[in-house]
Amino acid sequence: MRCAVGCGQQQRGVDEGYGVDKVRGNYDHPATEGLSCERGIRETENPAGEWLTEPLVRRGDTLRPASWETALGIVAAEFIGTVADDPDSLAILGSGQQTNEAAYALGKVARGAVGTTYYDANTTLCMASAVTAYYDVFGSDAPPCTYDDIPEAETHLVWGANPAVAHPVLYRWILDSAVESDSRLVVVDPVQSETAADADTLVQPDPGTDLALARAVLARLVETDRIDRDFVDAHTDGYDELVDSLPAVDDAAATAGVPVETVEDVAAAFEAPTLLYWGMGVNQSTHGTDAARTLIDCCLATGNMGPGTGPFSLTGQANSMGVRVCSSKGTLPGQRAFDDEAARAEVAEAWDVPLSRLPESTGPGPVGIVDKINRGHIDAVWTVATNPVAGMPDATNVARALDDVFLVVQDAFRSETVEHADVVLPAATWGETEGTTTNMERRVSRVTAVSDVTDGVRPDLDIIAAVGNRIESGLFDDPPLSPESVFDELRELTAGTVADLSGITYDRLDRELAVRWPAPDESSEGGYRYYEGVESDAEADGATDGESWSFPTATGNAQFAAASFEGVPEPTDANYPLTLTTGRRPGAYNTGVRSREETSEVPAARIHPETAGQYVQLLDRGRTIVESRRASVTVDLAPDDGVPTGAIWMDVHHPAVNRLTLPMVDPDSSEPNYKQCAVRLASPDTSSTVTRSGLSHIRTSRTD
Ligand code: SF4
Repeated sequence: MRCAVGCGQQQRGVDEGYGVDKVRGNYDHPATEGLSCERGIRETENPAGEWLTEPLVRRGDTLRPASWETALGIVAAEFIGTVADDPDSLAILGSGQQTNEAAYALGKVARGAVGTTYYDANTTLCMASAVTAYYDVFGSDAPPCTYDDIPEAETHLVWGANPAVAHPVLYRWILDSAVESDSRLVVVDPVQSETAADADTLVQPDPGTDLALARAVLARLVETDRIDRDFVDAHTDGYDELVDSLPAVDDAAATAGVPVETVEDVAAAFEAPTLLYWGMGVNQSTHGTDAARTLIDCCLATGNMGPGTGPFSLTGQANSMGVRVCSSKGTLPGQRAFDDEAARAEVAEAWDVPLSRLPESTGPGPVGIVDKINRGHIDAVWTVATNPVAGMPDATNVARALDDVFLVVQDAFRSETVEHADVVLPAATWGETEGTTTNMERRVSRVTAVSDVTDGVRPDLDIIAAVGNRIESGLFDDPPLSPESVFDELRELTAGTVADLSGITYDRLDRELAVRWPAPDESSEGGYRYYEGVESDAEADGATDGESWSFPTATGNAQFAAASFEGVPEPTDANYPLTLTTGRRPGAYNTGVRSREETSEVPAARIHPETAGQYVQLLDRGRTIVESRRASVTVDLAPDDGVPTGAIWMDVHHPAVNRLTLPMVDPDSSEPNYKQCAVRLASPDTSSTVTRSGLSHIRTSRTD
């Protein structure tokens, strides 16, 4: 399992060595009923990465093998010394590739034992804007929809996402529904993606202008009176203020680079029951939260809420949702707010740590943490199942920053980040680990170990507990720690909260295989969120406005919010006249460690043939250099008329690409603006700033 579709799988263990031998879909699993994609199976059965097999400790320029005792002793001594005067001297970066139990335990160490503000996870790099939008609008981070809604929708509006590549099994359900005679697939993407190839309508805004287009669509919905006033009046706040803030449709359409007729096409699509899916094309922007909020507003305003309709963010990593609910990253367990004193006190008491130790804010996000390192505020960093040296924007700067701190890298595979480590802690991976995971529709599944953990490697949870107990004695039971006991601690801590897992036990998961939260008791399971059905007296009257909704906001209503589009953060100019945008390619995932064998040393850059023709003097047999204000990367240009003129598209899986991208973030979510920056081409012969450092250590390796 590699992405947040959360396909149920059966696995066969290896007799010897690492990982698993065989994988296939599990027909009994309620989420996916036997389906799995080729990528998910291949990257689990036969990953390309170089396994980490023993702890490593840096001696001079070299990482040398060490015992666990030695490695953990060095880590503990460094961390304890570092945080003695200032807990914020240690930063911790987790991942959506951990089990719920490991994510919870890492958060408990970070927030409860260390008390650092500087704890985050790579999920902020892909999902934080959607999460922030959900909180703002609904008062809770949970997509209202589930997979059950997909067959019911008639308009499938996919905005800034390419599920044909990123979520293949879920995309099959979308396509199955969209090909029905009364259904359609509308895709919004600057680039003609694999999903766009199936679209009935393709809308191509300029990269980075999703907010402008979304506001144009919302303005058009208002202008043409396609508003569900009954729903708006009964279940929302802020509609009039929102309307006052909307732009003229033609102005906003021009900003997004599309004709007004195209805006009308998208607005008209909301007349049928609509499921609106969005992904990183929306989230990864300095306007990501506002754009996600505006998409949700389109659903609210048109009454596209309730079973078969609604806003559905497409989560990327396998356990992004688990990190959101369990890890104390953006909220404390149970979606408790960091600035809620009573909620903080409940968590401090449960963890038996001083309330004053829990930080009062979530921190500045991964990009902000790198900035703090560069300003000398952080002395040590611990990364767990994440590869920031390849995955974060302005990656060369990230590598430089990590060279300036004591760096502990915990991972299953050798990665770019490992090369900068002072201590490497080799971790077990899926198939070698017990625990649970949570998919994008809030469904918790059991993860079971089918292979023994090999000598030299330890499960994430054991490593985290070993480090945590050295920092705060008694924080966890002594290793080997029971994942079930950790999950029980977590689920009890969520009892009575909006993200209630208390009714999900290991025994129940053994029986039912997967259960959606909220589940406050062992017989309940979450369905469509916030919707409580049609009130019986309204039903008897034949009324159409008798729906009952309950949003966990101060008023009980969903909240509209005004926003404005201020332009892309790094516009093109005479020096950097082209726009770089990024996306996924089939068969690869995140920083591509498990598929690196298919990655050439020089990345490909798709470009419209007309644009390529303007720069032919800068090409040497198709090879050229892409320069941004941060770095230069040698590329092979691939002419492709699916890319708009003036733009360059590169896949996110190549470790060189993020040297180019922009480290500006959304002010609400701290999610980086990966999808748009200004670049230029330079001749391989004339550039004085060709940067290929790092490509030399692109082995077939890494983590996601
Ligand atoms: S769709 Fe996602 S979860 Fe399912 S098999 Fe493929 S990668 Fe794994």
